[in-house]
Amino acid sequence: MSTISDSSAGTATSGLAPIVVAVAPGSPADLVGVEPGDEILRVNGDVPRDIIEWQLATDEADVELDVSRGGLDLSMTIEKVAGTSLGIEVSSAVFDRVRTCDNHCEFCFIYQLPKGMRRSLYLKDDDYRLSFLYGNFTTLTRFTEADLERVVTERLSPLHVSIHATDPDIRSAMLKNPRGGMSLRWLRALLDHDIAVKGQIVVCPGVNDGAVLDDTLAGILDQYPELASVAVVPLGISKFNAESAMRFHTLAEAQSVVDTVDDWQDIFQATLGKRMVYAADEYYLMAQRSFPVADRYDGFPMHEDGIGMARTFEAEFHGAATEATGVQRGFFAAVDAPPNPAAYTGLRQNGCGPAEAVAASAAPTATGIRLRPRRSAPVAVLTGALGAPVITPLIESLGRTDVRVLTVENHFFGGNTGVTGLMTGEDVSNVLAIEPHGHRYLIPDVCLSDDGRFLDGVGIADLPRPVEIIPTDGIALRAALETAGTTT
Ligand code: SF4
Repeated sequence: MSTISDSSAGTATSGLAPIVVAVAPGSPADLVGVEPGDEILRVNGDVPRDIIEWQLATDEADVELDVSRGGLDLSMTIEKVAGTSLGIEVSSAVFDRVRTCDNHCEFCFIYQLPKGMRRSLYLKDDDYRLSFLYGNFTTLTRFTEADLERVVTERLSPLHVSIHATDPDIRSAMLKNPRGGMSLRWLRALLDHDIAVKGQIVVCPGVNDGAVLDDTLAGILDQYPELASVAVVPLGISKFNAESAMRFHTLAEAQSVVDTVDDWQDIFQATLGKRMVYAADEYYLMAQRSFPVADRYDGFPMHEDGIGMARTFEAEFHGAATEATGVQRGFFAAVDAPPNPAAYTGLRQNGCGPAEAVAASAAPTATGIRLRPRRSAPVAVLTGALGAPVITPLIESLGRTDVRVLTVENHFFGGNTGVTGLMTGEDVSNVLAIEPHGHRYLIPDVCLSDDGRFLDGVGIADLPRPVEIIPTDGIALRAALETAGTTT
């Protein structure tokens, strides 16, 4: 049963309360009269700080909502089955303030963004809640005893922690924060309370590679053996980098990192019974080495962090996998993450699906009518410089002359930016502008926001050729290539 009543309390709103953006028709919230635009003041008498508290509170059988609507305060009582949804989508994941990072890492990619992009891209978050909800990495330099209590009480697991170096002085220097060294005590505390933690090491050549990387992996074995896994990733350098100490890996340095990870996998395996540490796919490309065989990824525990994507994509493409592996995280995942309750349960949706799920845009003709090419038209698959060496052999294995790979060099960010997720509309436009009309152009969704925009704000409708957006996995690509004979 649901009820609604006016309140004359006239509660002032903080401006940080969650706003209702959608109400599912026929849902408990709909039946009691909740409307888009309502500001949620309290749930069961408490002010939720984030989507986690919101979800816990609204999972109750009896939910008391205090909302503000057009200056009027309303109280609503909803009775439903415990554990079922209210049917409300709210405006953000964090209702108070996202905890920002107080580090100043020289390798931070946010410092390497060009000016003039939208503000949310410049947000340096270091918030354990976003780590839990979206897999963002936290350094724990702003973590507190109260945070630990909440993480443990609400079992906010797994979390994702940037380690970089276990030597306190080196970690402090890398984070440019005197608390950098000591803050790994929180990692120990999390592990002591059986919180699953995935670690990350961003390797900066000349800073924490070589002997320091060895020392860090030894430190992990000694101090944090309960870590679920550790990703070793190279720093990204854009053309806007202003830190002279930050530079590309040489071939020898990349090969050394790959060898170090390989050696330590054997040590971890022999000592702990798990390989623990994995190098990013990017490293194998930089080192001009083959990717490890799929078995050496142990189920791809860090797939969403760029570990093993080439192997899963290959298996998916060749039909050796019946469903796509994990989540393909784009840059947007960290900055425009929707308050998707599925994320809370660890079941984030990635929109994987076969050809019928493919979204498409069509370029305007001189008459203003937007036409899509025939499904049987020649196909070009657009990908970043690092995606091309992965996808090209797969396409070539089909033996088809009507399918080709178009590499989109990243001139927008420049430097060594080659991941497909950072492709921008400007670069894609420049590539498409000199390509023939009437061909099919496939673009992976990892470089687009939910509303179909690239990082630079360009929308797919702004591109000079019609494109088809496909989920970023081998199954979707194969399905899109096999689609033929349909005229749209
Ligand atoms: S901790 Fe992350 S967000 Fe903060 S400065 Fe370092 S790289 Fe940037």
